[in-house]
Amino acid sequence: MFEHIIVATDGSDHAKEAVKVACDLAKKYGSRLHIVHTPQAVGDTLIVGYTAVPVPPTKEEIEKSGREVIGATESVVRECGVTDFTSQMVSGDPAHAIVEEAKAHKSDLIVMGRRGLGSLTGLLVGSTTTKVAQLAPCAVLTVK
Ligand code: ATP
Ligand code: MG
Repeated sequence: MFEHIIVATDGSDHAKEAVKVACDLAKKYGSRLHIVHTPQAVGDTLIVGYTAVPVPPTKEEIEKSGREVIGATESVVRECGVTDFTSQMVSGDPAHAIVEEAKAHKSDLIVMGRRGLGSLTGLLVGSTTTKVAQLAPCAVLTVK
């Protein structure tokens, strides 16, 4: 039923659950699995005396952290027994990146967490998932 599944991860526990569900479906349907991650720079601050100085991470630091998320996700996928998978780190807006990857890979299913790394407690569905559900060219499965 599902030939090409995309799973989106921000490295959160929610996304890890989504990866496990995506793997289960991939094994059941013999699907190709594609992992997508968009590393995000979350501005940090350095306190110098009484002053908070913004210290944005460098491009290299962002890419390094992105590679770590991809590597950790690939390990989970292998542990789940899936061998037919690819992965891609994409820059830019995560929702658009996920939708573009889904189009490029002619995916018939996108699997993602209902929430991610966001800190807004009480939010039922995160902004990335909401946006992907609106723009996706295929089915979207959100995992709690
Ligand atoms: P918000 O970002 O709106 O504050 P949130 O972080 O809790 O809230 P989302 O960002 O919508 O919620 O995350 C939900 C799911 O979207 C994640 O579990 C993951 O599957 C996917 N996702 C979020 N950010 C990224 C990202 N940067 N790269 C790839 N997938 C992502
Ligand atoms: Mg988020």
